[in-house]
Amino acid sequence: MKIYKFTLGNFAVNNYLVHAEGSNQAILFDAGEDPAPILEKIVELGLKLEYLVNTHGHGDHIAGNQIIVDETGAKLLIHQLDQPYLSDPYLNLSAYFGVEITSPPASRLLQDGDKIRLGEIEFQVLHTPGHTPGHISLWYEKHAFVGDVIFQGSIGRTDFPQSSSQQLIQSIRQRIYTLPDPTVLYPGHGPNTTVKAEKESNPFVSE
Ligand SMILES: [Zn+2]
Ligand SMILES: [Zn+2]
Repeated sequence: MKIYKFTLGNFAVNNYLVHAEGSNQAILFDAGEDPAPILEKIVELGLKLEYLVNTHGHGDHIAGNQIIVDETGAKLLIHQLDQPYLSDPYLNLSAYFGVEITSPPASRLLQDGDKIRLGEIEFQVLHTPGHTPGHISLWYEKHAFVGDVIFQGSIGRTDFPQSSSQQLIQSIRQRIYTLPDPTVLYPGHGPNTTVKAEKESNPFVSE
């Protein structure tokens, strides 16, 4: 499994292109604005993008959905509770920044425990609400793509109307901190971290 990280747009959203080696299949976690570098990498490596998965429906993470889906034909997946964000610029917050972002509809709605298969890889969907009601994390072996749930030394914002700080902390404790310690966390913003590092030092999730 090869992971390519792209940081795009005004909000510096991390997008992760994952190639299942031994096949030409790839999956993309989140699509920020102006995703041309991702499309170039897909062409350069001769990949077929099977899926675009949104960790959640905020505008900065879905801004590139339309272009990616149009250019690659990838199937768009999102948790059922964040589906309304795709078509509502107020819910996805983009309207407050003067650009009304909308996305094509999802091809499949996800829920906790769903599996997404890509060649030899099988990602498991972990429902990790709190930042948004339908936020998901995607887990496979020593890798977890966690969107805006947890960052290196920080956690996702919960000052939005649909957010819940209590739910977010519960998601981190019950779904992220229960993953094996060496698991690498790939967040929606900032550098990678690990379960072990955050358990030991994240000041926002105390016992
Ligand atoms: Zn967000
Ligand atoms: Zn974000």
